[in-house]
Amino acid sequence: MKKQTIAFLLLCFLVSSAFTQQKAVAEASPRLVVGIMVDQMRLDYVYRFNSRYGENGFKRILREGFSCENTFIPYAQTVTAAGHACVYTGSVPAINGIMGNEWYDKQIKKDVYCVEDNTVSLLGTASKGMPMSPKNLMTTTITDELKLATNFRSKVVGVAIKDRGSILPAGHNPDGAYWYDATSGNFITSTWYTNQLAPWVIAFNGKKLVDSLYKKEWKLSFPFASYIQSDTGSNNLKQNPFPRNLESNIGKNYGAIASTPWGNKLTLDFSMAAIESESMGVDNITDFIAISLSSPDYIGHAFGPNSIEVEDTYIKLDQQIASFFDYLDKKIGKGKYTFFMTADHAVAHVPAFMNQHKMPGLSMKQNKRAELATKNKFSITSLVEANENYQIYLNKSSIDSAGVDFNSVKAFFINELNKDPEIMIAFDNANINAVNLPSEFKEMFIKGFNQKLAGDIQVVYRPGYFFGGATGTTHGSMYPYDSHIPLLWMGWGVKQGFLNREVYMTDIAATLAAMLKIQMPSGNVGKVISEVIK
Ligand SMILES: [Zn+2]
Repeated sequence: MKKQTIAFLLLCFLVSSAFTQQKAVAEASPRLVVGIMVDQMRLDYVYRFNSRYGENGFKRILREGFSCENTFIPYAQTVTAAGHACVYTGSVPAINGIMGNEWYDKQIKKDVYCVEDNTVSLLGTASKGMPMSPKNLMTTTITDELKLATNFRSKVVGVAIKDRGSILPAGHNPDGAYWYDATSGNFITSTWYTNQLAPWVIAFNGKKLVDSLYKKEWKLSFPFASYIQSDTGSNNLKQNPFPRNLESNIGKNYGAIASTPWGNKLTLDFSMAAIESESMGVDNITDFIAISLSSPDYIGHAFGPNSIEVEDTYIKLDQQIASFFDYLDKKIGKGKYTFFMTADHAVAHVPAFMNQHKMPGLSMKQNKRAELATKNKFSITSLVEANENYQIYLNKSSIDSAGVDFNSVKAFFINELNKDPEIMIAFDNANINAVNLPSEFKEMFIKGFNQKLAGDIQVVYRPGYFFGGATGTTHGSMYPYDSHIPLLWMGWGVKQGFLNREVYMTDIAATLAAMLKIQMPSGNVGKVISEVIK
């Protein structure tokens, strides 16, 4: 009897101490943070296609995790580089310096690509592509802060098809940042990160997964007639019906994978290889994999939000993230990783599709009327030096040599621009505070205005109006169709729930910092979304 009691007490002690230990481990930190940026995703895709999703992808996130339903980009230039930089720095272009995918450098008088760096070279390809690094990113990232917090024992890896989708999130000193090279079909990096491509990357590239993905055609996941949420009558579909053969790309057109749903599969397969080979998520020192899925952007630009192509891409993405969760549950353990998903920007409807349904929208070519009127008025030979991100850089030396006052020229030009019907407002960047815009919008320009990099005049077009061609669509404006993005969380440290309160893209890094109990990035302006945190 006595022996049995002792054995019973001992068992109780062992169970309770094991439980305490397990609880302590579970509470301390996640083993891995998995961040997925979907390049071009609107919040409504979570719901519009919901009946088409399985139980273990988006529906699992909503069931087990947390959705911030009203997440907005807080600055005006809603483009890829600015979005990736904002999520990971918790900051805005005014401070982190990533004003667009490219911008005009007033000092050297040339266009600069967001991640270009001529002091490094590419690794993993023989092509003479532009060498790249995060050197233009002026603040730390949440991934940098994780490195600093653990004395560089945390592992950080960035993965994307687009270079900027990998480089900016991975921060300044990751264990690797890899992007896809359309010339070779390889994932590549640069000498900023390492002097030699890791053997596992060489092995992954050697398998040429892209060729086997090309052997699958792009076949719709469901019968054509079931795509009732999309425009089934588009000209594009008549000319290029499903299924779409991709085999002709094998061995020669490696860039084509990006514009198919299989680009996401390629990126997630490479991400899993990184987790395996870099031994990520194996101990209590939190690691961070920053993944960006670039394909939805290519597909979205070409076909628009109401296309069968976009609907089918999200049906397939739902299955792809479900299998990725299966992998993470087995490899890292359910509840032992923190997952978040968001987007770098959303997207406008295709203007022609809007017009067909009597709604406003216009794909425009640049109207030079105001520029000509100003040149003639002041007899200036070259008025505009550059035009990037809807900002006009005036040619100061040409204005000076005409012997006219710079500010008078600028004021006249702005006045002329404001006469154009497609322009909602053009204003002087040096005097944003005086602009007659609702404060919500004005604030987005202040946050997007980087003193060192911005142009002289900001041009704001009417909602749904943008520069573009006869087909397709784009993003880049301050309007909610471009700035309203999903923000989904799941796993370690995350409550189950929904939030309708408005939060911002800048709040993501602050929330991660609070979860991980580490410092916020150096230029952070975001606030913690405390409702998310367990
Ligand atoms: Zn885009």
